[in-house]
Amino acid sequence: MNLEKLIPYEAEIKKCFRCSLCKMAPLAVYRDVRFSNNCPINNYYQFHAWSGSGQQFMALALAQGRIEADQKLADIVFSCRSCGYCDVACKYIMDAERHLVNMALKETLAEGGFAPEEHKAACANIREHGSPFGSPAEPWENGLGIKQASRQKAKVLLWAGCSARHDPRAARTTRQFARILQKAKVDFAILGEGESCCGLPAYWSGFGDLFTQSAHKAGTAMERSGAKTVVCVCGACLGAMRSKFPAYGVRVDAEILHATEYLERLIKKGRLKLEAPEPMRVTYHDPCYLGRQAEPYIHWKGVEKTAFGQMTYTDPPKKMRYGTEGVFDAPRAVLNSIPGLDFAEMYRIREYALCCGAGGGMAEAHRPMAQKSAASRIEEARDVGAQCLVTACPHCRNHLEQTARDNGLDIQVADIVDLTARAAGIQ
Ligand code: SF4
Ligand code: SF4
Repeated sequence: MNLEKLIPYEAEIKKCFRCSLCKMAPLAVYRDVRFSNNCPINNYYQFHAWSGSGQQFMALALAQGRIEADQKLADIVFSCRSCGYCDVACKYIMDAERHLVNMALKETLAEGGFAPEEHKAACANIREHGSPFGSPAEPWENGLGIKQASRQKAKVLLWAGCSARHDPRAARTTRQFARILQKAKVDFAILGEGESCCGLPAYWSGFGDLFTQSAHKAGTAMERSGAKTVVCVCGACLGAMRSKFPAYGVRVDAEILHATEYLERLIKKGRLKLEAPEPMRVTYHDPCYLGRQAEPYIHWKGVEKTAFGQMTYTDPPKKMRYGTEGVFDAPRAVLNSIPGLDFAEMYRIREYALCCGAGGGMAEAHRPMAQKSAASRIEEARDVGAQCLVTACPHCRNHLEQTARDNGLDIQVADIVDLTARAAGIQ
């Protein structure tokens, strides 16, 4: 097995002293024992291997040749959501790169042929059809009279994300967002059939080469559109573009915003008026790839050095990313602009948010575990009295909604775009 991606991380991995903070909310934000566990896989399996630290130790044992890769090991590694919580939690106590080790481990195993069949199938679909879905693509934009970027230039490019062509709920949300832009008289275009997957499912699955190809393709299409601003409706696409594209060498000069950031601008400039009241209590779930995982990439070139045989440091000093620079404020500002909405925060929020369980592209393959995470999130929402759990990513919305339905949990789940459209009088 080729271990060249893991070996450079040996010193990094050895910084882990198994304190287990990566499984829990740090004390600074801890409010209630029921909502203190923050690693979805550890919550479910309750064994150290299924945790951020467990990933580090499996990576180290592989890198040092003490164990061989096998399917059991791969099953544990790929059950991880790559939600990035352990990375942020570990940085609460030390400067360490847990997420990079996690991804190097997944890439090593995927190259060795150990990726789960569901991941291989999604990646084959991206290669052949430009999206991870096996279903036929349906246009979401019919009848809206939107400019096609291939024929007409516009200042703004609306990036729908591939869910919009394969999932009717996501299609409706994207249509609502387009109608908001039309109401605010924004000059925008779409790529239509020319839009392909941002590649994030390949990233999650450890297929780094496919992710790089997909990111290049998406980045080139965005640049060719000539738009100065790209607005993503999907939170996962935003995280891929802002954080992972540059990490894999794909540069896009256009400003890249999430729908909530663009909505906040429209509201502040008075171009979007929210007047239809929504009298209910809501809370907000931070999607991992819109939140901590969307923190912009920071390039660093240098060497890691060792002092006194054990201590490691970087030369020049590496600027760490703590997950705090993701898209956290804009969704809250939009919700607080909707008249009648009573907004209440949950306990595990912002960079310390609990993954809904759908991350890592494995909601289907590890359904009971994924649903346990979503059910915990719904319980937390109900604990703060929310009638509606709002989020800003089609994957989180679908998974939370499905979990509520399957378990008879009494709560509405909504995308922030749909709520905003209603408040703007768009039905
Ligand atoms: S990864 Fe970090 S937080 Fe987790 S056990 Fe190791 S040192 Fe502690
Ligand atoms: S990335 Fe998320 S699911 Fe994976 S080990 Fe870390 S906290 Fe757990």
